[in-house]
Amino acid sequence: MGKKTKPGISRRDFVGLATAGAAAVAASGAVSPADAQAQGAPRIPTQWDLEADVVVIGSGATGMPAAIRAADAGASVIVVDTNYDVGGHAILSGGNTALGGGTTAQKKYGIEDSPDILFRDLTDWSIVETSGMPDYRYNDRGVQRALADNAAKNYDFLVANGVVFADRPPDNSGGHALGLSARRENHPIWDKGQSLESPAGGNGTSLMRPLEASARKKGVRFLLNYHMDAIFRETPDSGRVLGIQAGYSPTILPGTTTPLRSFRREGNIEMTATTVTVRARKAIVIGTGGSSGNVNFRRIFDPRLTEEVQTAAVEYSPQDASGEMAAMSIGATLWGTANQTFDRNGALRKRPIIGTPTNYIAWTPDSPIFPKIRATGLTVEDWQNAIIVNQVGKRFYNEMENGYPTGTVEGFLDPYVPGDWRNATKKTFAPRNYIDAALAINEGSGPPDFSAGPQWAIFDATTVERERWNLEPPATLPDYFFSAQTLAELAGLVTKNPHQKAKMPAANLEATVKRYNTMVDLGVDPDFDKPSPVYKIEMPPFYAAWATFTAHDTYAGLRINMKCQVIDLQGQVIPGLYCGGESAGGCSQHGLGRCTTQGYIAGVEAAKEPG
Ligand SMILES: Cc1cc2nc3c(=O)[nH]c(=O)nc-3n(C[C@H](O)[C@H](O)[C@H](O)COP(=O)(O)OP(=O)(O)OC[C@H]3O[C@@H](n4cnc5c(N)ncnc54)[C@H](O)[C@@H]3O)c2cc1C
Repeated sequence: MGKKTKPGISRRDFVGLATAGAAAVAASGAVSPADAQAQGAPRIPTQWDLEADVVVIGSGATGMPAAIRAADAGASVIVVDTNYDVGGHAILSGGNTALGGGTTAQKKYGIEDSPDILFRDLTDWSIVETSGMPDYRYNDRGVQRALADNAAKNYDFLVANGVVFADRPPDNSGGHALGLSARRENHPIWDKGQSLESPAGGNGTSLMRPLEASARKKGVRFLLNYHMDAIFRETPDSGRVLGIQAGYSPTILPGTTTPLRSFRREGNIEMTATTVTVRARKAIVIGTGGSSGNVNFRRIFDPRLTEEVQTAAVEYSPQDASGEMAAMSIGATLWGTANQTFDRNGALRKRPIIGTPTNYIAWTPDSPIFPKIRATGLTVEDWQNAIIVNQVGKRFYNEMENGYPTGTVEGFLDPYVPGDWRNATKKTFAPRNYIDAALAINEGSGPPDFSAGPQWAIFDATTVERERWNLEPPATLPDYFFSAQTLAELAGLVTKNPHQKAKMPAANLEATVKRYNTMVDLGVDPDFDKPSPVYKIEMPPFYAAWATFTAHDTYAGLRINMKCQVIDLQGQVIPGLYCGGESAGGCSQHGLGRCTTQGYIAGVEAAKEPG
């Protein structure tokens, strides 16, 4: 298995951060300054291994534009990334890029928009999702104004740096939280499948590879395979940031000894030292992609998100909160945390794939990182073909619900009257977010976390036929997929899964299936309103496939201002420190549009810092 994901806030993390932020850490009670010294925490280097004007942490949707913009402004730039290749989640993504405010594409296709309209949309308090989440209410006005003012310029910047968006009118498909007044979503197209160039085969490749090529051409250097562990500041809670420390983090696939190498190499800084320090003469930009992959950190926002909840695409880039923690240890604060509730439609996603914990995107054996993924999983076409039970073998919702009503896009409110309080009254609260139901389950849970536990798709031999699944390896992962001749045996087997802490009583599973089969006879589901249950579960072998949902976006992170400068607990700028994307707070917008725009802003501002 590859290395490096840090699922929790480890003691080493705090120790690593302690020199830079001794006061903050001491205040937290985690490690006193004296302890930190005693434990050999890093000291501000007297000699640096590398240096550049601007050091960008992360080469994803935020980091890559930031690096290009800083280089365009004349700065020398080093991008540090823990992964073996660039792109982060952005290169795995669908590539749908929401940019409004009067983009060239919007103008071409006669779509009326402006920075003012976009700003109004992104701060419209009156919009409430069906889940009850107010999508734009808790946005930081300054952060949104900066997005609104720069989105259209960022569109032109992306195109000027090689991104080709499909030549068709922007739409609102594939996105959410992008405002209701205009169509804003743009689509680069990737149709060549998975490869070294495109690990997940997603359209995001068409966004990130051109940007990467442009960055390399402009002289940006890349230090890959290094995980930023600490940021140095003049004193723990004052002065400029000076540089970073990063630890070697090669990706070595199971059964191999040679670390994976990036698709492109020109401009790569090749090092294998255990630890490297990088001086930032002007500034540091954090673009580390958020915190959804760090169980302890994400539970700051939603304590229900215990370890069995999986995280989208951490196999490629970690979302381990390392950017947030490094900045917080030198005084930075979190911001806009109300945005991070996982009740937000889309923050947690139903798994389209079962039988493997890597269940958000479909990886094929063609992907260079497939040995990390290990199973393709089974893609479910029709949830009439299975029921989902909790850790004690009981159903808890209508399996046909996708739990992802993309609420705040076009047509969501008709008519939409910007800022009108009656918008809120027009939305009927529909607690269709099955995830809440799942997370609320206490049955079978135990100390210390009282975790709701895994969810299992239960089906029989006829489902395998109807779904045309091939169960041969590498379709499913051992301990995440079980089959048995009886339901009682199946209930016993699931306890082999490392996340299934509770016993699944055989009688529960048998009773659940028996009742469901009766519902099929009746054609109604009086328990959870699944529309006309169609197929009985009665033909052995019976199957249990991992079907636990996935944490997707991070919607809260470090406090930043309109220039993407990181702000401390006293409301003061931390000189030289910038952040954007999922590691930044104050912003409820999903994905690539906001992340690339914040990178666009941060890069040029970083380059303006005194050297
Ligand atoms: C499967 C999938 C599909 C998606 N589809 C869409 C879509 O169609 N449209 C859309 O708008 N959004 C989409 N998204 C979301 C979008 O990809 C992300 O919101 C966006 O990429 C986040 O940008 P970022 O810069 O914050 O982080 P990322 O793009 O993830 O980049 C973070 C980078 O930081 C690196 N890193 C992290 N920690 C460290 C460290 N300590 N030291 C060094 N490097 C570090 C990571 O390796 C990574 O390269 C999708 C996401 C996924 C997973």
